[in-house]
Amino acid sequence: LRIADVLRHKGDVVVTISPDETVAALLAELDQHGVGALVVSRGDGTVEGIVSERDVVRRLHAHGAALLEQKVSSIMTEEVHTCGPQDDVEDLMVSMTQHRFRHVPVLVEGRLAGIVSIGDVVKTRLDDLEAERDQLTAYIKT
Ligand code: AMP
Repeated sequence: LRIADVLRHKGDVVVTISPDETVAALLAELDQHGVGALVVSRGDGTVEGIVSERDVVRRLHAHGAALLEQKVSSIMTEEVHTCGPQDDVEDLMVSMTQHRFRHVPVLVEGRLAGIVSIGDVVKTRLDDLEAERDQLTAYIKT
């Protein structure tokens, strides 16, 4: 299975936020879209960073409520691990587990073409295993 198969199921929408927005605005977007991370971008399809709810929780613990007025750029991760549509889903699963992040943007020629979460990856893998099991069961019965 390839990343392109995951995107076929879930679509290629990526919610982004500008690095100049506040953490308060970030929280509103996370809530509104029901996601755990946003790609930080100036809207031209290039990636400046990634910011997840975990970045907020850790800094909130350290800095308190003043964090809400800080810029997204001050809490985002700049070194973003990305993947391509032709990458293998199982390889990405291993990599996400090793590096302990749950979101990976998909790039095509340096531009955003989707994002996969650990949930998307696990769901795709389970659907695949289930289809394989059904095929084998049907094969045994005939
Ligand atoms: P997550 O598990 O995705 O909520 O993220 C955990 C931590 O890893 C946070 O500090 C994120 O900013 C960072 N992070 C999430 N996704 C990526 C990624 N694809 N590349 C690099 N860092 C990431």
